[in-house]
Amino acid sequence: MSLAHTYCAATDCSNNSKNCEGTGISFHRFPANQGLRRKWITKCRLGKVNPKASRLCSNHFNNNDFQRDLKNELLGLPLTRKLKPEAIPTIFQSRPLKPPNQARVERSGQRERKQMVAELLASSYEQGMIKNKIWPFSIVNDFV
Ligand SMILES: [Zn+2]
Repeated sequence: MSLAHTYCAATDCSNNSKNCEGTGISFHRFPANQGLRRKWITKCRLGKVNPKASRLCSNHFNNNDFQRDLKNELLGLPLTRKLKPEAIPTIFQSRPLKPPNQARVERSGQRERKQMVAELLASSYEQGMIKNKIWPFSIVNDFV
């Protein structure tokens, strides 16, 4: 792993600057404003974050959280994606928690991960079953 790559800090997100190359996904610094940063951290379900080192990818924001790059639009230059100053990430795979303390966050995070793995295994098992199954309606069609 190279330190040159930027990794998304969100739980359950594996985006980094390498595997997102050319996808248009951008990585954004945590806000310098403490109150706003706290909101980000809560949304991301992170206990601690180094605001200078951590990034969150653009998948966690709505389109209207981004500013238009009017200058580059006018000049016909490649657009940069900048968040609005008050933007808060809202899109996460798992429902964000409202943590009263950090220990509880970590415990429920683990439990959720286990449940997710179980659900993933169950769904891929079902998909395997479906693939190998002959559907009754294809037989019915033969009689039409
Ligand atoms: Zn992400």
